[in-house]
Formats: sequence, structure tokens, C-alpha cells
Amino acid sequence: MLADEIGARLAVVRARIAAAAERAGRDPNDITLIGVTKTHGVDAIAAACDAGLRDFGENRVQEAAQKVAALHGKVPAARWHLIGHLQRNKAAAAIGLFDILHSVDSERLAETIDAHAERPVRVLLEVNVSGEASKFGVPPADVAAIAERIGRLPGIELVGLMTVAPSVADAEAVRPVFQTLRELRDTAGLRDLSMGMTDDYEVAVEEGSTLVRVGRAIFGSREAARTAGDG
Ligand SMILES: *Cc1c(COP(=O)(O)O)cnc(C)c1O
Repeated sequence: MLADEIGARLAVVRARIAAAAERAGRDPNDITLIGVTKTHGVDAIAAACDAGLRDFGENRVQEAAQKVAALHGKVPAARWHLIGHLQRNKAAAAIGLFDILHSVDSERLAETIDAHAERPVRVLLEVNVSGEASKFGVPPADVAAIAERIGRLPGIELVGLMTVAPSVADAEAVRPVFQTLRELRDTAGLRDLSMGMTDDYEVAVEEGSTLVRVGRAIFGSREAARTAGDG
């Protein structure tokens, strides 16, 4: 996709986030937009950087490592967010690469991160709010106890909760998922809520999201990126 097009799409997403924040009486500055660049090439990331984006999400350690290396010194310092399932044998590599790990989906993974951490690693606990078998994350009923235990690990700075809502035609249908995550966050006394993607980020912002993870609305279809070979 052309750089101009990425800039224009980014402006639309930012305006929609600001409007959704306003509807909910929130300060738009409390919401960080993360551009999800999985499958997309470094040119797309550089174009988004040119348009002012500084936060990027990737779902695989190796793919992210290649992009971070390729962009080194070519773009202003960016923050990298891991948003996909992390295998325990890649925890050490992930710590070295990412600023925030959104997808800590078990106590065991948190313990592995803690064992490798040289300073506190910022993480979010992923919650499977909808209970779909295909999704990662801890069950809502376990959040309070797990958050309390991993929050005490010296190598972990637990900042919030993350969820991936079910994919539905009408974003209104997933509002209860976001409300549930917010209530769990409040009970656990945490700060951040990582929720909202291309199809549902406005509803997520209305429900309190502080970290929205938007891919297609900024960078276009991932299939097109793969076919064009720029991933
Ligand atoms: C791919 C992905 C996104 C971005 O999805 P879009 O629908 O392209 O906005 C967000 N979060 C996670 C966890 C993802 O895997």
C-alpha cells in the first residue's frame, strides 16, 4: 500500500478513536494506537512512522526481530508490542525485543518470563472472555488470583488485561466482552485494557480501552500484503 494511503487511513482511525473517546467522556490522549503490522513489510512500517505512529504490534517473535533489525536507525525509536501467543522457549528472545508483552496467557509463561528478566518486564494478562476453544487466555474466573500471584514476581510488571473479542458482523455484539474485561481490570486494580481491533475498536474505546490494536484499517488486507510479497 502507498505511503500516502497509510497516512490517510491512520488519520481516519485516529479521528474515530477521538470521537469514540469523546462519546464516552474520555481523554483521547489516554488511548494508545498500536499499528498491527504482521505480514506487512518494513516499508509499510516506515510509512506509518512518517505519519507519526510510534507503537507497533507483531504476533511472532522471529518476524518482529527481522523487522526491528531492518528498521534500526532508519526510523525514530518505536515501541514494539507482542500481541500473539508466546511459546515459553521464545520468552527470552521476546523480552529482548518487545517493550510490552500483551499475550501472557498462563501463570507458567509469566514464571518463565520472570526467570529470564533482568529488569521488570511490562506485561498484560490475556483473558479468554468469550470462552471460545480457539482462543488463548485465562478464564475470567481465574484472573484475580493469577493477577495477584504474577503481580508479585519481581521480573514482571503487570500493567493490565488483554482480550481478543469474537469476530462478529456487528461490533455492538461484543460490547459485553469489553465490559467484562473492564470489570475484571477494575477488580484486579490494574491500569491498562488492551482491547479493540479493526472491526470493533470504537466500541472498545467507548468501554475503556487504553491500548487498541489496529491492523487492516491502517495497512489494508493481510492477504494482499502476502500476495504482493512485501511481508
Ligand atoms: C491481527 C491482530 C490484531 C489486528 O487485527 P485487525 O483486525 O487487522 O485490526 C489485533 N490483535 C491481535 C491479537 C491480532 O492477532
